[in-house]
Amino acid sequence: MNATENYSIRVEPTQNSRLSQVDFDNLKFGKILSDHMLVADYDDGEWKSVSIVPYGDISISPSMSALHYGQAIFEGIKAYKFADGTVSIFRPDRNWERFNKSAARLQMPEVPEEIFMDGLSKLLDIDRNWVPAKEGSSLYIRPFMFGTEAALGVHPSKSYKFIIITGPVGAYYSKPISLKVETYYTRAAEGGVGFSKNAGNYALSLYPTQLANDEGYDQIMWTDAAEHKYIEEAGTANLIFRIGDTIITPHGDTILHGVTRRTIMELADKWGYKTEQRKVSVQELIDGIKSGTVTEAFAAGTAATITHISRIGFEGQDYNLPPVEGREFSNKVLNYLNELRYGKLADSFGWNYLVK
Ligand SMILES: *Cc1c(COP(=O)(O)O)cnc(C)c1O
Repeated sequence: MNATENYSIRVEPTQNSRLSQVDFDNLKFGKILSDHMLVADYDDGEWKSVSIVPYGDISISPSMSALHYGQAIFEGIKAYKFADGTVSIFRPDRNWERFNKSAARLQMPEVPEEIFMDGLSKLLDIDRNWVPAKEGSSLYIRPFMFGTEAALGVHPSKSYKFIIITGPVGAYYSKPISLKVETYYTRAAEGGVGFSKNAGNYALSLYPTQLANDEGYDQIMWTDAAEHKYIEEAGTANLIFRIGDTIITPHGDTILHGVTRRTIMELADKWGYKTEQRKVSVQELIDGIKSGTVTEAFAAGTAATITHISRIGFEGQDYNLPPVEGREFSNKVLNYLNELRYGKLADSFGWNYLVK
């Protein structure tokens, strides 16, 4: 028996498609979910069943381990529709790889390629009419996994559910944001789980983010746990700066290794910019803003690709960045990726994964 037979995917098509009720001109992020979902169950050391079924509620036990001990991880991916109707997923192999790194760190099982990648392809084939055709819009894809064992005891869950749900999202126009440099609360420490995309990393960020919002900032700029001296990332996105002629991004295991960040750094390399992945101190950034060497600063993530940063607050002082219109590199990246994802440019990097 080969692996593919091993994970044969059962399909139960919906009898009540909701597609005709969707107003594709008014999509709120995460509110509309497509007709189908992929569900795989793991038990006793192996993946037992994989199926694509109508989207709907699932039943869980009150003693389900993920609710108590937090074995829960996820991914965020986007699919786009070309003018000729082709459905293309942007670099999902990178998300699959990251998902399994998150899983390993939380002592959860890996999800094999036949379930994550082939399952995703099959799900999008079935729900291909849910991928919006309008320029700027896309299908958001949310794979996730959590421990399902019904037992109150601290140990790795013996059973897990892996699920993929998707939903159409509209053009994401992100206006420039302000960030507060966080010098007390910590997102992640060396040796912790900062690099893994787990649910807990979001839970812990909500309170400090609210405090920053109350002070008039959109998001937090996290700093290192030990000294609060070095920049890590923003709330749900990585940070990239242009200092002089170099494109720089913080690195290390305390930050989430974003696919967008990686993509942008690869583009910068290819386009002949100098690039560096290294520690960036808050002081270096502030000094650079003051002296004018920091000409671009943005957050990078799947949701908006690039979100320009307009203002940074540090120790009660605000520092303003140059106008967005003049930011050559980030605007070039944004245009390039928009065209590439909709199939308007030759895919010379092999980043578009076409659904058959
Ligand atoms: C998902 C995520 C990012 C961005 O990753 P992408 O793969 O580019 O979407 C950055 N930081 C955090 C904390 C994240 O959860």
